[in-house]
Amino acid sequence: MAAEMCFACTEQGYAKPATKVVCSVCKKEVSWREAVAHYMGHGKKSGNDVICPICNTKVKGQEFRSHVRRHFAVRRGASYLCGICGKSFLTLKSLLVHLMKTHE
Ligand SMILES: [Zn+2]
Ligand SMILES: [Zn+2]
Ligand SMILES: [Zn+2]
Repeated sequence: MAAEMCFACTEQGYAKPATKVVCSVCKKEVSWREAVAHYMGHGKKSGNDVICPICNTKVKGQEFRSHVRRHFAVRRGASYLCGICGKSFLTLKSLLVHLMKTHE
C-alpha cells in the first residue's frame, strides 16, 4: 500500500496553525514555506525518473514536483485539506494552487 502522508493524523493537529512541519524522511523541522521543495530534495534520481521519498514510486522527472504536491492534499469529506497547514478547500485544484504558492 502506498504510504499516504497525512499531517492531519499526526500529533501536530491544527488547533493553532503550525509554522513548521517535521519531515517524515529526515525528521528535520522544516518551514512550511519550503515543505514541498524540501521533500523534493529527498528524491533519488534514476535516469529520467525520480524515486519519490514519500511513497517510493518512480515518477517522471517533470512530474515529480506535482506528484510531491499531491501527497499534501488530504481528502476530508466533500472538501480537501492542506496536509501542511490544515486549511480547507472546496476543490483539489484550488488546494494544489495553494500548495504551490504557499509551501514551495
Ligand atoms: Zn527531510
Ligand atoms: Zn509519492
Ligand atoms: Zn497549506
